[in-house]
Amino acid sequence: MSKFKLAMIVALCAAVVVPAFTRTPQAPASSSAASAPDPKLPDSKLPDPKLPDPKLPDAKLVEDLVYANRILSDQVVVDAFGHVSERDDKDPNRFLLARSVAPALVTKADILEFDRNGEPIDARGRAVYLERFIHAAIYRARPDVKAIVHSHSPAVIPFGVTGTILRPIYHMSAFLGAGAPVFEIRNGAGMTNMMITDNKLGDALAKSLGDGTVVLMRGHGSVAVGDSILQVVHRAIYTEVNARLQAEAARLGSINFLTPEEAAKADAQTDSMASISRPWELWKSRIGKID
Ligand code: MN
Repeated sequence: MSKFKLAMIVALCAAVVVPAFTRTPQAPASSSAASAPDPKLPDSKLPDPKLPDPKLPDAKLVEDLVYANRILSDQVVVDAFGHVSERDDKDPNRFLLARSVAPALVTKADILEFDRNGEPIDARGRAVYLERFIHAAIYRARPDVKAIVHSHSPAVIPFGVTGTILRPIYHMSAFLGAGAPVFEIRNGAGMTNMMITDNKLGDALAKSLGDGTVVLMRGHGSVAVGDSILQVVHRAIYTEVNARLQAEAARLGSINFLTPEEAAKADAQTDSMASISRPWELWKSRIGKID
Protein backbone atom coordinates (compact mmCIF):
# COMPACT_ATOMS: atom_id res chain seq x y z
CA MET A 1 0.00 0.00 0.00
CA SER A 2 1.39 3.41 -0.96
CA LYS A 3 1.93 6.09 1.67
CA PHE A 4 -0.75 8.18 -0.04
CA LYS A 5 -3.39 5.43 0.11
CA LEU A 6 -2.61 4.75 3.79
CA ALA A 7 -2.92 8.45 4.60
CA MET A 8 -6.31 8.56 2.82
CA ILE A 9 -7.65 5.53 4.83
CA VAL A 10 -6.47 7.05 8.15
CA ALA A 11 -8.10 10.38 7.26
CA LEU A 12 -11.42 8.70 6.29
CA CYS A 13 -11.47 6.62 9.48
CA ALA A 14 -10.86 9.72 11.57
CA ALA A 15 -13.68 11.56 9.79
CA VAL A 16 -16.13 8.78 10.71
CA VAL A 17 -14.88 7.80 14.17
CA VAL A 18 -13.94 11.13 15.72
CA PRO A 19 -17.31 12.87 15.26
CA ALA A 20 -19.08 9.74 16.57
CA PHE A 21 -16.82 9.66 19.60
CA THR A 22 -17.17 13.36 20.31
CA ARG A 23 -21.03 13.08 20.20
CA THR A 24 -21.14 10.34 22.81
CA PRO A 25 -21.00 12.62 25.89
CA GLN A 26 -24.01 14.62 24.53
CA ALA A 27 -26.09 11.46 23.88
CA PRO A 28 -29.76 11.64 24.89
CA ALA A 29 -30.82 10.40 28.35
CA SER A 30 -32.33 7.28 26.80
CA SER A 31 -28.90 5.76 26.25
CA SER A 32 -27.96 2.95 28.60
CA ALA A 33 -25.01 4.92 29.91
CA ALA A 34 -27.27 7.82 31.01
CA SER A 35 -29.78 5.57 32.94
CA ALA A 36 -27.10 3.97 35.07
CA PRO A 37 -27.48 5.15 38.72
CA ASP A 38 -25.13 7.84 39.91
CA PRO A 39 -23.61 6.39 43.12
CA LYS A 40 -23.23 9.93 44.51
CA LEU A 41 -26.99 10.69 44.31
CA PRO A 42 -29.74 9.02 46.48
CA ASP A 43 -32.25 7.01 44.43
CA SER A 44 -35.62 8.69 45.12
CA LYS A 45 -37.55 5.69 43.68
CA LEU A 46 -36.53 3.36 46.48
CA PRO A 47 -38.30 3.89 49.87
CA ASP A 48 -36.08 4.57 52.82
CA PRO A 49 -36.53 1.44 54.99
CA LYS A 50 -36.04 3.56 58.11
CA LEU A 51 -39.08 5.74 57.37
CA PRO A 52 -42.76 4.60 57.47
CA ASP A 53 -44.46 4.36 54.08
CA PRO A 54 -46.27 7.73 53.71
CA LYS A 55 -49.21 6.00 51.97
CA LEU A 56 -49.84 3.55 54.81
CA PRO A 57 -52.27 4.55 57.59
CA ASP A 58 -50.77 5.94 60.77
CA ALA A 59 -49.52 3.21 63.14
CA LYS A 60 -51.45 4.86 66.02
CA LEU A 61 -54.66 4.50 63.97
CA VAL A 62 -54.11 0.75 63.66
CA GLU A 63 -53.28 0.44 67.37
CA ASP A 64 -56.43 2.38 68.39
CA LEU A 65 -58.54 0.18 66.12
CA VAL A 66 -57.19 -2.96 67.79
CA TYR A 67 -57.95 -1.44 71.21
CA ALA A 68 -61.45 -0.51 70.01
CA ASN A 69 -62.10 -4.15 69.04
CA ARG A 70 -60.90 -5.42 72.43
CA ILE A 71 -62.73 -2.74 74.45
CA LEU A 72 -66.07 -3.29 72.71
CA SER A 73 -65.76 -6.99 73.47
CA ASP A 74 -64.68 -6.37 77.08
CA GLN A 75 -67.69 -4.05 77.53
CA VAL A 76 -70.02 -6.70 76.04
CA VAL A 77 -71.13 -4.55 73.10
CA VAL A 78 -69.82 -7.13 70.62
CA ASP A 79 -69.41 -10.89 71.14
CA ALA A 80 -68.15 -13.27 68.46
CA PHE A 81 -69.93 -10.97 66.00
CA GLY A 82 -69.92 -7.23 65.37
CA HIS A 83 -67.12 -5.04 64.03
CA VAL A 84 -65.51 -1.62 64.24
CA SER A 85 -63.83 0.33 61.43
CA GLU A 86 -61.94 3.58 60.99
CA ARG A 87 -61.53 5.78 57.92
CA ASP A 88 -57.95 5.83 56.53
CA ASP A 89 -56.22 9.06 57.55
CA LYS A 90 -54.17 9.09 54.31
CA ASP A 91 -56.94 8.22 51.84
CA PRO A 92 -60.56 9.14 52.75
CA ASN A 93 -61.84 6.67 50.13
CA ARG A 94 -60.49 3.77 52.16
CA PHE A 95 -61.20 2.36 55.60
CA LEU A 96 -59.58 -0.08 58.02
CA LEU A 97 -61.41 -3.13 59.33
CA ALA A 98 -60.24 -6.45 60.76
CA ARG A 99 -60.38 -9.70 58.82
CA SER A 100 -63.32 -11.95 59.72
CA VAL A 101 -62.51 -12.76 63.36
CA ALA A 102 -64.09 -12.25 66.82
CA PRO A 103 -63.24 -8.69 67.97
CA ALA A 104 -61.65 -9.95 71.23
CA LEU A 105 -59.01 -11.78 69.18
CA VAL A 106 -58.04 -8.93 66.80
CA THR A 107 -54.33 -8.08 66.54
CA LYS A 108 -52.55 -5.45 64.39
CA ALA A 109 -51.79 -8.15 61.79
CA ASP A 110 -55.55 -8.73 61.32
CA ILE A 111 -56.28 -5.16 60.18
CA LEU A 112 -57.02 -4.95 56.45
CA GLU A 113 -57.74 -2.00 54.19
CA PHE A 114 -60.95 -1.70 52.13
CA ASP A 115 -61.97 0.54 49.22
CA ARG A 116 -65.08 2.75 49.07
CA ASN A 117 -67.13 -0.18 47.69
CA GLY A 118 -66.20 -2.43 50.60
CA GLU A 119 -63.73 -4.59 48.69
CA PRO A 120 -60.39 -5.46 50.34
CA ILE A 121 -57.33 -3.79 48.77
CA ASP A 122 -55.30 -6.92 49.57
CA ALA A 123 -57.04 -9.55 51.71
CA ARG A 124 -53.77 -11.56 51.89
CA GLY A 125 -55.87 -14.71 51.60
CA ARG A 126 -57.96 -13.84 54.67
CA ALA A 127 -61.75 -14.15 54.94
CA VAL A 128 -63.50 -10.77 55.32
CA TYR A 129 -66.69 -9.76 57.17
CA LEU A 130 -69.89 -10.35 55.15
CA GLU A 131 -71.38 -7.08 56.45
CA ARG A 132 -68.45 -4.80 55.52
CA PHE A 133 -70.91 -2.93 53.23
CA ILE A 134 -72.40 -1.30 56.37
CA HIS A 135 -69.09 0.56 56.73
CA ALA A 136 -68.49 1.26 53.02
CA ALA A 137 -71.98 2.72 52.49
CA ILE A 138 -71.89 4.98 55.55
CA TYR A 139 -68.38 6.30 54.73
CA ARG A 140 -69.65 7.10 51.21
CA ALA A 141 -72.77 8.87 52.50
CA ARG A 142 -71.23 10.69 55.46
CA PRO A 143 -67.88 12.47 54.86
CA ASP A 144 -67.95 13.62 58.53
CA VAL A 145 -67.92 10.03 59.82
CA LYS A 146 -64.44 8.74 60.71
CA ALA A 147 -65.34 5.56 62.63
CA ILE A 148 -68.22 3.05 62.73
CA VAL A 149 -69.34 0.27 65.11
CA HIS A 150 -71.83 -2.42 64.11
CA SER A 151 -73.06 -4.64 66.92
CA HIS A 152 -75.87 -6.91 68.06
CA SER A 153 -75.62 -5.52 71.62
CA PRO A 154 -78.52 -7.25 73.39
CA ALA A 155 -80.32 -4.49 75.34
CA VAL A 156 -80.80 -2.47 72.13
CA ILE A 157 -82.59 -5.28 70.22
CA PRO A 158 -86.05 -4.81 71.90
CA PHE A 159 -86.15 -1.16 70.76
CA GLY A 160 -85.75 -2.23 67.13
CA VAL A 161 -88.77 -4.54 67.22
CA THR A 162 -91.41 -2.87 69.42
CA GLY A 163 -91.78 0.66 68.10
CA THR A 164 -90.56 2.04 71.46
CA ILE A 165 -88.02 4.71 70.52
CA LEU A 166 -84.54 4.58 72.07
CA ARG A 167 -84.15 8.06 73.59
CA PRO A 168 -81.55 9.69 75.87
CA ILE A 169 -82.47 8.80 79.45
CA TYR A 170 -79.42 10.58 80.89
CA HIS A 171 -76.64 12.97 79.94
CA MET A 172 -74.13 10.24 79.01
CA SER A 173 -76.24 9.18 76.02
CA ALA A 174 -77.25 12.71 74.96
CA PHE A 175 -75.85 11.90 71.48
CA LEU A 176 -79.13 9.98 70.89
CA GLY A 177 -80.79 13.40 70.48
CA ALA A 178 -84.48 13.10 69.66
CA GLY A 179 -84.18 9.29 69.45
CA ALA A 180 -82.55 6.67 67.23
CA PRO A 181 -84.22 5.84 63.88
CA VAL A 182 -84.96 2.19 63.01
CA PHE A 183 -83.87 0.63 59.71
CA GLU A 184 -86.55 -1.71 58.30
CA ILE A 185 -84.83 -4.06 55.85
CA ARG A 186 -88.22 -5.31 54.55
CA ASN A 187 -88.84 -1.90 52.98
CA GLY A 188 -87.33 -2.25 49.54
CA ALA A 189 -85.62 -5.62 50.09
CA GLY A 190 -88.57 -7.83 51.18
CA MET A 191 -87.68 -11.15 52.78
CA THR A 192 -83.92 -11.32 53.44
CA ASN A 193 -81.54 -13.10 55.82
CA MET A 194 -81.53 -9.74 57.74
CA MET A 195 -77.87 -9.04 56.90
CA ILE A 196 -76.27 -6.13 55.00
CA THR A 197 -74.40 -8.18 52.41
CA ASP A 198 -74.19 -5.72 49.50
CA ASN A 199 -73.89 -2.03 48.70
CA LYS A 200 -77.59 -1.62 47.85
CA LEU A 201 -78.61 -2.73 51.35
CA GLY A 202 -75.77 -0.65 52.79
CA ASP A 203 -77.05 2.47 51.01
CA ALA A 204 -80.58 1.86 52.37
CA LEU A 205 -79.17 1.55 55.90
CA ALA A 206 -77.10 4.73 55.48
CA LYS A 207 -80.29 6.51 54.35
CA SER A 208 -82.08 5.45 57.55
CA LEU A 209 -79.13 6.69 59.64
CA GLY A 210 -79.41 10.08 57.90
CA ASP A 211 -77.31 12.65 59.74
CA GLY A 212 -77.80 10.84 63.07
CA THR A 213 -75.35 9.13 65.44
CA VAL A 214 -77.03 5.74 65.91
CA VAL A 215 -79.43 3.67 63.79
CA LEU A 216 -81.16 0.52 65.02
CA MET A 217 -81.63 -2.44 62.66
CA ARG A 218 -84.94 -4.23 63.21
CA GLY A 219 -84.42 -7.85 64.30
CA HIS A 220 -80.63 -7.56 64.01
CA GLY A 221 -78.66 -4.91 65.90
CA SER A 222 -77.44 -1.34 65.55
CA VAL A 223 -74.80 0.95 64.09
CA ALA A 224 -73.08 3.86 65.81
CA VAL A 225 -70.97 6.44 63.98
CA GLY A 226 -68.48 9.04 65.23
CA ASP A 227 -65.83 11.54 64.23
CA SER A 228 -63.10 9.46 65.91
CA ILE A 229 -62.50 5.92 67.11
CA LEU A 230 -62.77 7.17 70.72
CA GLN A 231 -66.13 8.82 70.09
CA VAL A 232 -67.67 5.85 68.29
CA VAL A 233 -66.58 3.42 71.03
CA HIS A 234 -68.05 5.77 73.64
CA ARG A 235 -71.33 6.00 71.67
CA ALA A 236 -71.62 2.24 71.09
CA ILE A 237 -71.08 1.51 74.78
CA TYR A 238 -73.48 4.19 76.07
CA THR A 239 -76.14 3.21 73.51
CA GLU A 240 -76.21 -0.22 75.15
CA VAL A 241 -76.22 1.30 78.67
CA ASN A 242 -79.07 3.67 77.70
CA ALA A 243 -81.12 0.77 76.34
CA ARG A 244 -80.70 -1.15 79.61
CA LEU A 245 -81.61 1.87 81.76
CA GLN A 246 -84.57 2.85 79.58
CA ALA A 247 -86.05 -0.66 79.82
CA GLU A 248 -85.57 -0.62 83.62
CA ALA A 249 -87.10 2.85 83.98
CA ALA A 250 -90.10 1.85 81.84
CA ARG A 251 -90.94 -0.84 84.41
CA LEU A 252 -91.07 1.82 87.15
CA GLY A 253 -93.27 4.33 85.37
CA SER A 254 -93.42 6.90 82.60
CA ILE A 255 -89.99 8.28 81.69
CA ASN A 256 -88.95 11.92 81.77
CA PHE A 257 -86.36 11.91 78.96
CA LEU A 258 -83.86 14.62 78.13
CA THR A 259 -85.58 17.07 75.78
CA PRO A 260 -83.84 17.58 72.40
CA GLU A 261 -82.58 20.94 73.74
CA GLU A 262 -81.16 19.35 76.91
CA ALA A 263 -79.69 16.56 74.79
CA ALA A 264 -77.91 19.08 72.53
CA LYS A 265 -76.49 20.97 75.53
CA ALA A 266 -75.39 17.80 77.36
CA ASP A 267 -73.94 16.32 74.18
CA ALA A 268 -71.58 19.30 73.74
CA GLN A 269 -70.01 18.27 77.08
CA THR A 270 -70.31 14.47 77.41
CA ASP A 271 -69.52 13.66 73.77
CA SER A 272 -66.47 15.96 73.57
CA MET A 273 -62.90 14.67 73.24
CA ALA A 274 -62.09 16.03 76.72
CA SER A 275 -64.85 13.89 78.20
CA ILE A 276 -64.48 10.70 76.16
CA SER A 277 -60.72 10.34 76.65
CA ARG A 278 -61.18 9.55 80.35
CA PRO A 279 -63.28 6.37 79.89
CA TRP A 280 -61.10 5.42 76.87
CA GLU A 281 -58.00 5.33 79.09
CA LEU A 282 -59.92 3.33 81.72
CA TRP A 283 -61.23 0.82 79.16
CA LYS A 284 -57.75 0.53 77.59
CA SER A 285 -56.18 -0.19 80.99
CA ARG A 286 -58.45 -3.24 81.31
CA ILE A 287 -57.04 -4.62 78.04
CA GLY A 288 -53.34 -4.11 78.78
CA LYS A 289 -50.72 -4.57 76.06
CA ILE A 290 -51.79 -5.61 72.57
CA ASP A 291 -50.00 -7.40 69.71
MN1 MN B 1 -74.69 -7.99 62.01
